[in-house]
Amino acid sequence: MGDHQDSRKAPGLPITNPCVSFWQQTTRSFPYLNINKDEPVPIESKYVVIGSGISGALTTYELIQGGVSAEDIIILEAREAASGASSRNAGHVRPDAFRGFQVYEQLHGKDQALKIIANEKLVFERIKEFVEAHGVQCDFNPTTTFDVCMTPEFADFNARSFELYREAGGDVSHIKFYEGEEARKVTRVNKAVAAYEWPAGSSHPAKLAQWLLTQSINKGVRLFTHRPVSAVTKSASSTADRVFWDVVTPRGSTKASIVVHCTNAFAPFLLPELSNFITPNRAQAHAFVPPAAFAASSILPSTMSLRHTLKHFYSVAQRRPDGILILGAPVANPKISQEASQSRFTSDDSFINGEVRDDAVGNFEMCFPECEKGKLRHGEGLLHTWSGIIGMTTDSVPFIGKVESLPGQWVCAGFNGHGMARIFTCAPGVAKLILGGSWQDTGLPECFEITKERLEKLQKGVPGTVF
Ligand SMILES: Cc1cc2nc3c(=O)[nH]c(=O)nc-3n(C[C@H](O)[C@H](O)[C@H](O)COP(=O)(O)OP(=O)(O)OC[C@H]3O[C@@H](n4cnc5c(N)ncnc54)[C@H](O)[C@@H]3O)c2cc1C
Repeated sequence: MGDHQDSRKAPGLPITNPCVSFWQQTTRSFPYLNINKDEPVPIESKYVVIGSGISGALTTYELIQGGVSAEDIIILEAREAASGASSRNAGHVRPDAFRGFQVYEQLHGKDQALKIIANEKLVFERIKEFVEAHGVQCDFNPTTTFDVCMTPEFADFNARSFELYREAGGDVSHIKFYEGEEARKVTRVNKAVAAYEWPAGSSHPAKLAQWLLTQSINKGVRLFTHRPVSAVTKSASSTADRVFWDVVTPRGSTKASIVVHCTNAFAPFLLPELSNFITPNRAQAHAFVPPAAFAASSILPSTMSLRHTLKHFYSVAQRRPDGILILGAPVANPKISQEASQSRFTSDDSFINGEVRDDAVGNFEMCFPECEKGKLRHGEGLLHTWSGIIGMTTDSVPFIGKVESLPGQWVCAGFNGHGMARIFTCAPGVAKLILGGSWQDTGLPECFEITKERLEKLQKGVPGTVF
């Protein structure tokens, strides 16, 4: 592990030799994985979208839906198609139903906190509608999720959050609560203290991103893979009324009037004004082949988050098509050594941390003793471990909208390891803004907007993060 890049100061560009996730292993035949790898970029394109994850793919899709001609858009992707966090996550499409409310309220005020939570519920509904309406084959499983409180302290924290959210007028009609024996029975977690349940789902995130990219490519969008953008500079052909940008890559530059940064954790590389506010963090996920106790008709019907404290938690989602359990590991965790915990401060997703893996699997075994190592047959148990880079923001919400200091440049980034519960409103939002809509048209919480005032406030320092 000696010569891995240390990206604590700045994310740089995505590294060229990332590990391969379970989602990538199972989609190696995607025909556009390495599309236009060796082709030069066009010298001009009206729109350039940087990044082909779910943000870039959905922003492009929505621009076309909004009337932009597909031939006027190119997507530049540093590596394989959708090879960032969108193909490396834990597959959860899990809105926060109330838990983050008290922290969001401290950071952004009561109204914004209510809007943040309401937006997450909306995202789940949007993805569900979208996948069903278009018949997207992405193993989407609309179900419910449990917030499993593993300690009395966390049960108290969640109870307080729930009450504060409800008292503030938040909608709790879709949330069920279980305590003690009942919580253990519904979740099957033998040490559960309490549990909350609400609608959520899971998906094969790479298949979702690839489906979106395919729609746009079929309409005429050109995606250039293995094409890291090294700079976006003001073009010499800019006039007093109109600014053009030269989007620089190792195989040529493209002049564009509209540039959309969908680069998540890597956004600060091309937008240094975000460097103090978006930090790359390496996160890890694991695929686990279930024993008989979690196979066939005994698979877990709901997903869950096994929560010891606000920031010490593990996600579990069992896939319908093959029964594979996907285990998400926390970014920071009191159970692992300082060294393992610090190893998250990187934008290098070529490797995994063995201590984080052992802790994630150990926690899963502790919650579900039927899955303990000694009880498994050959072929059951841990199948694969992978890592990916999430973009943490200092105020726990993404940066969406117009980069005021760079006319014609837009951003949709900084999803705090939680993009599946946010991008399906944020990307359509940024597309609406680009097409001349107002912030109100986006329906997004105002605190998501990248404004001069927000950046100035952050520069002065803001406490805490939610995830
Ligand atoms: C291990 C892990 C588990 C997670 N689990 C969940 C979960 O269960 N639920 C959830 O909601 N979220 C989860 N997330 C977070 C979620 O995956 C992200 O929030 C989401 O995928 C972000 O999508 P995106 O399109 O904005 O970014 P990405 O998918 O990272 O896409 C950005 C793209 O930009 C490209 N790029 C960057 N810089 C450049 C450049 N200069 N030039 C060209 N291309 C560039 C990158 O290569 C990348 O493909 C997890 C993330 C990880 C890593």
